[in-house]
Order: sequence, then structure tokens, then C-alpha cells
Amino acid sequence: MSVRTKCNRCNDLATIQDSVEESADFKVLYCTCNNPECGHTFAVHQTFSHTLSPSRLDFDPAMMEKIQRMSRVQQQELFSAISKSRD
Ligand SMILES: [Zn+2]
Repeated sequence: MSVRTKCNRCNDLATIQDSVEESADFKVLYCTCNNPECGHTFAVHQTFSHTLSPSRLDFDPAMMEKIQRMSRVQQQELFSAISKSRD
């Protein structure tokens, strides 16, 4: 896993020992502080926040090609309209 987390007690890096996927959008990560003088073990919640660029799985290839030809600003307007319509 490329996610790194820090100990909230000593601010040293911590190792993620285990993770439990409660849902596609929510995981609990079980961590151990790497600082031997600290040794804090703790759990961190990892939650999905928001989409920056939508999954290609959400578009058919013809639609994807049209979107790629749009300017960045047009793409952002479109994605923001899509995310608002899902609320
Ligand atoms: Zn620590």
C-alpha cells in the first residue's frame, strides 16, 4: 500500500499493519508507530472524499473521446455538473 500515515502522538511515520474494508468508500487502517520510543498502535479511518477526474468505467468510448477534446475548463464544468446531479 502506498498510503503513509503518521503517528498522532509523536509525528513519526507509522506502518499500516492491517486494513479492514468496511465498504468501497470506507476502510479502517490499523497502524503501529515506527518510533521505538513511542510504540503507539492506533486505527485510522480512510474515507473516499470526492472525484477529481471520473473513472473511465463511467463513460462509453465515444463519450470519452468527446470529453478529451474539451478544454480543461469545459471538463471541470461538466464534472461539477455531474457530481451536483448525483447529490
Ligand atoms: Zn509515535
